[in-house]
Amino acid sequence: MRTRILPMLAVGLLLAGCGGGGAEEKAGSSGSPASETSKAKGPDDTGSAGGKMTVVYDDATSPDAINGKKLLQDNKVLEELADDINVSLKLPEDIPLRGSQCDTPNAFWSPSKKSITICYEDADLSQKIFVKAGDKDPDTSAIGSEDATFYHEAGHMAVTLYNLPITGKEEDAADQLAAYILLTPGDNGKVDSESVQAVKDFARTFAAYAQLKAEMGATNNMADEHSLDQQRVYNLQCWIYGSNPEANADIVTSGGLPEERAQRCPDEWKQISHAWSTLLEDHWK
Ligand SMILES: [Zn+2]
Repeated sequence: MRTRILPMLAVGLLLAGCGGGGAEEKAGSSGSPASETSKAKGPDDTGSAGGKMTVVYDDATSPDAINGKKLLQDNKVLEELADDINVSLKLPEDIPLRGSQCDTPNAFWSPSKKSITICYEDADLSQKIFVKAGDKDPDTSAIGSEDATFYHEAGHMAVTLYNLPITGKEEDAADQLAAYILLTPGDNGKVDSESVQAVKDFARTFAAYAQLKAEMGATNNMADEHSLDQQRVYNLQCWIYGSNPEANADIVTSGGLPEERAQRCPDEWKQISHAWSTLLEDHWK
């Protein structure tokens, strides 16, 4: 399994990264035979007009896709994510959340189809990364990273569905929403430690991409609409730290985040939190 991570990443590095815009078309899950094996339960779906997020697991035929599908389906990953959306956000129409074989690690929001797709290969690649990293429970790490990936796509979804005014890169804004959803305290005033870990694991996948790119001698695509992998790592680390400097001081002391950046992270986080809470305030259930 480990030996396959490099070629797998070599493909992934060329194509991975969500396509909020044009890239989604070539990622193409169009016409793939869907087997509606499960639907979001949608608890508390109390009548507000509009739709709900529904879960579809498409067929998988390649070994990587079969593995990724199993990870997602056995752990009801997509079902739980859809439930989270259905209890919290007003959706103007039904939004499919698809697990699909894409033949490349990816995840994307399709503005034209109004659906979120998590490619099975993305879950498979995350699992390989965390197996390679020696995690005791690579499946949990991979699921956490896929959860954060989903909320990144939910950021693109929100921009489209609610016609949100975004300044700066939408890709950065989508990373911010993932962090905002996962790092904001719940009604009990506490942040779920698993959610914090999910953001950390999301960052670790970008660190792995950056490292493997360097090992392969690949150059960064400066024209890409995403920030560079290592920048996304530092951004996510900054926001984790900034959201709760006391609880996450280890990110700085371990050298994961330079002091110069860390000093401004609490204010950076406040700005992100203010922005996304303002943007979404009319759209919560
Ligand atoms: Zn994106």
